Formats: sequence, C-alpha cells, structure tokens
Amino acid sequence: MTPEEFRSLGHRVVDWIADYRESIGDRPVMSAAEPGDIRRSLPDAAPVEAESWDAILADFEGLVSTGITHWQHPRFFGYFPGNHNLASVLGDYLSTGLGVVGVSWQASPALTELEDVVTDWARRLFGLSDAWTGAIQDTASTSTLVALLTARERATSFSAEGPGLAASPQPLMVYASEQSHSSVAKACKLAGFGLDHLRLVPCDETYGFRTDALEALMTEDRAEGRIPCAVVATTGTTSSTAFDPIGPAAAAAARHGAWLHVDAAMAGGGMILPELRHLWEGIEAADSVVINAHKWLGAAFDCALYYVKDPGALLRVMSTSPSYLQTAADDEVRNLRDWGLPLGRRFRALKLWFLLRAEGTGALQQRLRRDLSNARWLAREAGSSPEWRVAAPVVLQTVCLRHEPPGLDGEALDHHTRDWVERVNRSGGAYLTPARLGGRWVARVSIGAEATTSEDVAAVWALMRREAERT
Ligand SMILES: *Cc1c(COP(=O)(O)O)cnc(C)c1O
Repeated sequence: MTPEEFRSLGHRVVDWIADYRESIGDRPVMSAAEPGDIRRSLPDAAPVEAESWDAILADFEGLVSTGITHWQHPRFFGYFPGNHNLASVLGDYLSTGLGVVGVSWQASPALTELEDVVTDWARRLFGLSDAWTGAIQDTASTSTLVALLTARERATSFSAEGPGLAASPQPLMVYASEQSHSSVAKACKLAGFGLDHLRLVPCDETYGFRTDALEALMTEDRAEGRIPCAVVATTGTTSSTAFDPIGPAAAAAARHGAWLHVDAAMAGGGMILPELRHLWEGIEAADSVVINAHKWLGAAFDCALYYVKDPGALLRVMSTSPSYLQTAADDEVRNLRDWGLPLGRRFRALKLWFLLRAEGTGALQQRLRRDLSNARWLAREAGSSPEWRVAAPVVLQTVCLRHEPPGLDGEALDHHTRDWVERVNRSGGAYLTPARLGGRWVARVSIGAEATTSEDVAAVWALMRREAERT
C-alpha cells in the first residue's frame, strides 16, 4: 500500500469508526454468532492475487454485524469497563503508524521519555508518592507475573543467576485471597512456585481477605520450614470489586519478609478520585502495584501501569545487555526492556498521553463519579424491591444482584440466575457476565462504559426485572 492509498483508505476507516461509535447503541450488544459461524464464512487460504478494498471492507462489515460483542455499547455491563476513548485510539494509531520498536532508549528516545512522563503523571493522579517508579506493561497478568518473579528472586538471593529455584530446599509460599484473579494462580505456576504453594486466604463478609487468617497461614508455614515469599492483595476483585485490607497485609508481609504486590487492575483507576483512596490505605507500604489504564480510565487496550518501589531488584531480574543493544547513552537513560518480559515494545505511552491531555483529568474524574452514582442508584432500587437481593457490598461501580423468588434456593436458584442472565444477553438489549460469589451464582452489573448514562442503567434494570420475574 502506498502512502497515497493509505491516505484515502485511512479516511474511510476513520469515518467508519466514527459512524460505528455514533450508532453503536442501535446494535444488539452481544454477538449472536454460534461457535464456528465466522470461520465457516471465510476461505481456507489467503488470496494469491490482491483483493479490492471494497471486498475487504465488506467482509469486515460482515464480521462486525455478526461476530462482535460491542464493548463500547452504552448497555455493555459485562466483565469490566474496557473503555477505548477515541483520543486514546488516535494515540494508538500513531504508535502503529510510526512503526518504531523500543528496544533501547536510542531506538526512539521519545518512546522511553514519554513513558517516563505519563507513568509519572498517572502516579500523581493516583495519589502515589514519588517513591514509586512506573513502566507500562501489556496487561495486569504480565505485571503480576513480573512481580512474583522479582519476589522469588529477592527471596532466594537472586538464585536465577546461578542454580535457580531447584537449589532452594524450602518451598517458597505465595498468599492471595480466595477471590483473587486467575492471573495470580497462573503467575504462581509460571514463576515456578507451583499451585501447591499458593495459599488462598479466606475472606470475610465483604469478600476482602481476613488478615488474621493471612497471618496464621504465614506463621504456620514459617514454623514448618516453608518461606513466606509474596502476598498478592487485590484491591477491586473481579467478582464484586472487594478490597483486601492493604495496611494489615503490608504489616504481615513485613513481619515475614515477604513481598507485597497489589493487584489494582480494575479499581486502581478509581484512585484518581481522592474520596476513594481510603480504600487502599497502606498502599505506600507495598512493593509493587498494577493498575490497568485500559479499563475504567479509558486508555485503549493494552496499557497496564506497573509501579515498583525498588527498581534495582526488578532490573537485576529482567536486565539483558547483549552487545548489539549497547549504546553510549546506557548510563544516563532507562532502557525499558529491563522493566519487563519482552525486549521490543510499542509506543504505548502515546495513547495514555492523548487520553489525559484531550480529556483532562477533571472530566475523567467526573465520568467515574457518574458511574459510582449510577451503581448506588441501582443498588438502592434492587435493595428495595421484593425478591431482589444485593449480594455483595457495592464498593465501586459493580453491583452483584440476585433475583430470589420464594421457594427457590441452592442449585435451582443458580439455574434461575444463569437462565435469566442468558435471556437478557440473548435479547441484545444489554450484556451481563454472571459469576460465582460465596458459593452461588450472581448477576454482575459492571457499570462504566464511557457511553453509559443513568438512562442506560435504568433500562438494564427494567430488562433484568422483565426477564427474571417472567414466569
Ligand atoms: C482485569 C483484571 C486482571 C487481568 O487483567 P489483564 O490486563 O487482562 O491481564 C487481573 N486482576 C484484576 C483484579 C482484574 O480486574
């Protein structure tokens, strides 16, 4: 493709996206595709001859009309808000259009230095002190793996530089809430701890972990010759946005010499609101924290902000300096390849920089406050309706609900919940993702798509009632 062709097609594509975002509310939220539908509609092999753009874009339209669940839809209440603010989308375009790969500072100085700047801007926005230094990772899953790898190395005097974990006679233990995200268990597997050495700490009625239980597990492990290595505290769990108490967790971690990593992937974005910061009180005593700017805040996926207190430990674990990457500037600059797993990196800072500048932090704060107030409204409505129950404290923008008709409990109630949620989704009028909480299924209403207004929340509530109360 020549730059001239790109110019005209690029305009067409940008127009398409603008139209899509403008009219997205007219589409059914969830894709109606059955498994294999999309695949069957496409040829088995790539074309030998170039195809026309009209044909390519027509097929793209076909995919969109059948095979996409619309995350930017105002009635998308599934998973978590995966906002892709359009200013951020433009930053992402430019990153790709420049086509640079950040293997070292010199490979594109602005890529590194803008990342220095935006991670620092974001740090201040979250109310974190200047004891923290940040780098952008792809996802929270990668960040948590990086944290556990660093914790493992710190606990073994950096054994990976020699014999590795196999030389350690005592097992290293990791602690996380029974509500922790699946990425924690995955990181335990990948970092060599093994799932046998992940202790799931029981929760109290708020679904945050009990720190007396954490302390007891760590003491027992120590007494029996195992080494408490890392605690992963979750601020904003996936099922119900519950918060583990950071201050007491930090004290327990410190007593046992363990690393404290905070998984604030979703709720960390909320810390741009000073009135929420009491929820992660004690955060300054943690060793690392991850916040996904690509969730509620609105940066285009992927943009996970990973902050550490001691870059020295991270650099020692992640550094590589082969001759072909060495430059004269190495002593004066950050080489971001030493701050995570991959060597090459995209110019991700652009999409966050564009978001923060084009929206302004005041508007971001307003949007988040709007979502919190919509969630409180829904919780009040459901809480005062017969047969409906708010199944977990509403801490942020997620409301966990159950419709409990008289005489229905146990498995039958679970069936009812999953059935009516499925009917809501199939109706195309809204999209919810249910989850298990406290041993039972609940409908999660995760509010906070950029386009979601109070009318959309009223509409999903009406739709839920219609589908659940129908007999
Ligand atoms: C979304 C989420 C994750 C996983 O995020 P990825 O960036 O997709 O890896 C992990 N933990 C929590 C609490 C989350 O909300």
